[in-house]
Amino acid sequence: MTLAATEPTMDLPAVEERHLDRRQYPNGVAYMDGQYLPMSEAKISVLDWGFLHSDVTYDTVHVWDGRFFRLNQHLDRFFQNIKRLRMKLPYDRAEIAAILANCVSLSGHNSAYVDMICTRGASSTFSRDPREAENRFIAFALPFGSVANKEQLERGLHIAISYTVRIPPTSINPAIKNCHWLDLVQGLFEAYDYGAETALVVDTNGNIAEGPGFNVFAVKDGRLRTPAHSVLPGITRQTVFDLCSELGMSAMADNIRPGEIKAADEVFITSTAGGIMPVTRIDAALIGDGKVGSVTRELTSLYWKKHADPSWSTLVTALL
Ligand code: PLP
Repeated sequence: MTLAATEPTMDLPAVEERHLDRRQYPNGVAYMDGQYLPMSEAKISVLDWGFLHSDVTYDTVHVWDGRFFRLNQHLDRFFQNIKRLRMKLPYDRAEIAAILANCVSLSGHNSAYVDMICTRGASSTFSRDPREAENRFIAFALPFGSVANKEQLERGLHIAISYTVRIPPTSINPAIKNCHWLDLVQGLFEAYDYGAETALVVDTNGNIAEGPGFNVFAVKDGRLRTPAHSVLPGITRQTVFDLCSELGMSAMADNIRPGEIKAADEVFITSTAGGIMPVTRIDAALIGDGKVGSVTRELTSLYWKKHADPSWSTLVTALL
């Protein structure tokens, strides 16, 4: 029997029920289409190019103890990337800062993970011309999150090197914070298969690049090096350069071979989601003596001290 075009082809739940999402969402507040919403109600169209084609850029900043850390650097990067992708935002910089602060304040979180996102959006005709899509701005604040949990921060992460190649800069400019994560997710699954906790992927020349949501540093004889190519220029990575210049330590961006990173005295990863996080094992190799090293400890301690310093951080309430 053929069904008439107007008849539903299956039993659909009532609209109200379809919008009831039974999964748990982190407790947070989002902003989209001019409204502040509970996280569970922040939804986009499946026709958004951001969802269909990964045509989206975003930035993540964190709030610690009521203060945004390096918000200006995150806003600079976000606005630069919007321009690179030829997107347009309906808000200026001060308005975005206020929206982020409102999300944090409404969420009630004193320490938060805060995202600003711009997707290409959708066009009413499902046009294949990206210029016809209406760009969409979304922001949200969730409880502060970290790549490494408490135990991993204390004993150091165990990482596996995946020989999956990070999307080359000739395909996608890695300075544009993007959602092209299939390589990173593949690296993660390889790392889990190996019994490690997270992964590092390589660039087209086989040098270490970065991991899912973080940059990496190697310390050898008191000097720091971080991969120069095929990486997002992380704000935390830049912060490590800034802290090193304050402490008189040498730090540079360079090519790092897998063998070199395994032979380092200390290794740590950097991300807005967690800050500076120690690594004590890469594949089967213990890093240094297998314990969190003194350079990592010194930088971590200064990093967190800067969160209370007004020249490095901004009170959320000052932006409301
Ligand atoms: N590399 C990638 C691929 C990332 O997604 C991130 C952050 O999400 C980082 C590095 C670290 O960047 P930041 O220090 O700005 O958080």
